[in-house]
Amino acid sequence: MRPLSLYLHLPFCVRKCRYCDFLSHPAPEEEIRAYVRTLCAEAEQQGMKYGGRTVDTVFFGGGTPSLLSGELFGEIMQRIFRCFKVEPGAEITMECNPGTLTYENITRCRQEGVNRLSIGAQSFLDKELLLLGRIHRAIDIEESFALARSVGFRNISLDLMSALPGQTTEDFLYSVRKAIDLSPEHLSVYSLITEEGTELGDAYLDGSYVEKGWSALPDEDTERAMVHETARCLKEAGYEQYEISNYAKPGFSSRHNTGYWTGHDYLGLGIGAASKIGNTRFSNPSDTATYQRMIVGQQAEEARDVQLLSKKEEMEEFCFLGLRMTEGISTAVFERTFGAPFEEVYGEVLAKHLQTGLLAKEGDNVFLTERGLDLANRVMADFLLD
Ligand code: SF4
Repeated sequence: MRPLSLYLHLPFCVRKCRYCDFLSHPAPEEEIRAYVRTLCAEAEQQGMKYGGRTVDTVFFGGGTPSLLSGELFGEIMQRIFRCFKVEPGAEITMECNPGTLTYENITRCRQEGVNRLSIGAQSFLDKELLLLGRIHRAIDIEESFALARSVGFRNISLDLMSALPGQTTEDFLYSVRKAIDLSPEHLSVYSLITEEGTELGDAYLDGSYVEKGWSALPDEDTERAMVHETARCLKEAGYEQYEISNYAKPGFSSRHNTGYWTGHDYLGLGIGAASKIGNTRFSNPSDTATYQRMIVGQQAEEARDVQLLSKKEEMEEFCFLGLRMTEGISTAVFERTFGAPFEEVYGEVLAKHLQTGLLAKEGDNVFLTERGLDLANRVMADFLLD
């Protein structure tokens, strides 16, 4: 049986960033403690079901997992190790935010087995961090990074965000270069998405950003220039682009996310956490009270949102996720997984996009070309089966 990836959701933040539509909120200490108790109970319940499988990656996401005290974090880790067969050498990542790392909490995380940090830097320009509503400033990123190195973290990722209001390509490249100067092993670069229901998203969707004195969003050409220039700078600095938004030094691709993009089974614990085991996808309720009732009342089977994927849906997902990777889809793996040759199912789409130059094929692998990466959504839409 293939190894399992574990995801644990810790939905607590100091305060809400202006663009954030993740499941996260500020919470008092008692609420955090109660949540951790429920999370541990869920680990216990799911461990009875899936604990026989080897776990090769664990990911603490949020929210801001680094807000947890070392003591609470230790409780969760010990429970995970007790309930699941975590492989020696498993990749164990914790997301964290500058301004929340202390010598005590980060040392404890490392002692408990975390061996990879993903730091939400977003920008090295204070004016941009302020506009995004982040709790930290550029100097905090450098300090957190240095602290993480000093306690022994040798696998650190930084997140950066492009296409911010008023941002020029030069502004963004300044942040990229500052990140490169720190020499992280991994970088994730995502464009700002203006989500409805967030302060920033609403202001740009209804035009009220003008009254707030905020600049316009960069146009599409500027956004693409940022993406291309970033890829060029990072390549020069020795980073390999292995996914649409992710870059790593050799040997440091995220094993957890790669598993997700290549169709591994994953089990999510915590509010809103999604899982996929075989052809079954399920997710936990996204509000804490329902989640707690579900775990305490042992009514997980009724409360989880469960979806059985058809073979067609699995094929589509295989292609959507696989095409995000720069090495693309393996037609041999497709055939082994679904018992049908790739060309038999997707022959027309493949021929069309080899012709448009948006896809290329080398040996068994079908992947997006450089131009295809710019138009990835258009290509992926063609992989929907009727
Ligand atoms: S730190 Fe992350 S999860 Fe928390 S509010 Fe900001 S963007 Fe959202």
